[in-house]
Amino acid sequence: MLVVGAGDQAAESVIALSENNRVTMAVRGPELSRPRTRNISILKSKQVRGEIVILYDTTVTSINENSVTLKTPDGLREIPNDRTIINAGSRAPYDFLGKVGVKIADTWNSRRYIFFAIFIAFIISMYLFKSFGMKALLGHYGLKSAAEISNPVLSFLAAKWYGVLYTLLVGGFGLWILNGKRKRHYRLHDYIRWKTISCIFFQTVFLFGLTLMPVKYLGAKAATLITVWPLTLAPASWANSFFVMGNSNPELVFYTFFTVFLAFIAMPVFVYFHGKRCCSWICGCGALAETFGEPFRRLAPKGYISRRRERIIYVVLTASVLMTGMIVLKNTAVSAPAVNSVQYWYNIIVYLIFSGIIGVGMYPFFGARIWCRYLCPLAAYMNLLGAVLSKYKISSNDRCIDCGQCNRYCEMGIDIKGFALRQESFSVKNTPCIACGECIALCPMDVLTFGDRPG
Ligand code: SF4
Ligand code: SF4
Repeated sequence: MLVVGAGDQAAESVIALSENNRVTMAVRGPELSRPRTRNISILKSKQVRGEIVILYDTTVTSINENSVTLKTPDGLREIPNDRTIINAGSRAPYDFLGKVGVKIADTWNSRRYIFFAIFIAFIISMYLFKSFGMKALLGHYGLKSAAEISNPVLSFLAAKWYGVLYTLLVGGFGLWILNGKRKRHYRLHDYIRWKTISCIFFQTVFLFGLTLMPVKYLGAKAATLITVWPLTLAPASWANSFFVMGNSNPELVFYTFFTVFLAFIAMPVFVYFHGKRCCSWICGCGALAETFGEPFRRLAPKGYISRRRERIIYVVLTASVLMTGMIVLKNTAVSAPAVNSVQYWYNIIVYLIFSGIIGVGMYPFFGARIWCRYLCPLAAYMNLLGAVLSKYKISSNDRCIDCGQCNRYCEMGIDIKGFALRQESFSVKNTPCIACGECIALCPMDVLTFGDRPG
């Protein structure tokens, strides 16, 4: 008998059939890497004992009545054969299913394209309103700013409506998760509970709360407490004022050195212990993704091509580093007007367009982590830090049943199942894992854990 394939199904077919048959296994690649470790070792010992034949780099060219012809590295080879079992190919026959009337969730049809266009238009108008609309609205009533509105509640909402809406979404959907309303979880895992509480806390008290504090208590540059270079380029302007222009205002000096400490000491130490956990526990974009973005988790792009596209994040990081250099050297090596005009477009592209449209606008279509996976310069910086100095990892035992739940709900598109089947650990060194813990909470076999898991 011939078994074609290189995954667990093929391996288990070979193991079962070889009890009563002479079996050849045709593997397209140069090695068996996809089956779980236990199956690989059974196959290899059967091969050593001569009970089965495994042919690598081999494909089937024809299946005849009593034989098969195989293309091997040594040329065409015909072997006697009674039955052929094909255990290859993981894509369901969607075209056929569609023709017989089966509706497939999340496929792109004309309705979905129209919804996509309408939703993007809505998000663009929200961002335009955030940037220009409120001023125009106030101007319409003869007011210059929200502070001129006499009613304190309306004045507050006019000034902070975007932050209020954002915080309400994080808080509302966070409470929905804490309430155990997500049916797909077997239980509300403690890690998910604390992660959600952390997201609500940091968004409400720290990120939004700090913007409500009077400037006199915090200083004009308090934004540094909530954003880190290279996500914000504000530290570059302060470094320019301090180092190049000689401005030694104590507040400026404090914030300049504080941001340097945050980016080059605090972040590496954090990544060493926790990997990219700040993306799922602390960051405001991450908080929205973990709460409001929760229902869209399964829509995240998966597979090799989507992982390759993630490399664009290093182009964004490079742009951010170059911009930083230009701003720090403003008025010396580069002229101020040139820096100002480049920075103007940089800000528009990176922060306004991408964080707005490609961020929230993509949630119902591509999951909530498009910004984090493809465009966030801070995530790219943490990827590089994690590649050299993180002790964070997720490891697995030997109980994986290949159900695919972990892959389905990983927003970072990581092939967790592949690691679990091979009982390999993974970390920020070889994946963009943000330590959201969803794979651990969802696994029905309790396969995965943070840190080491022997046996
Ligand atoms: S691998 Fe697990 S913990 Fe890491 S991002 Fe994916 S689901 Fe979250
Ligand atoms: S959820 Fe658990 S059992 Fe299912 S594929 Fe992932 S690691 Fe394996």
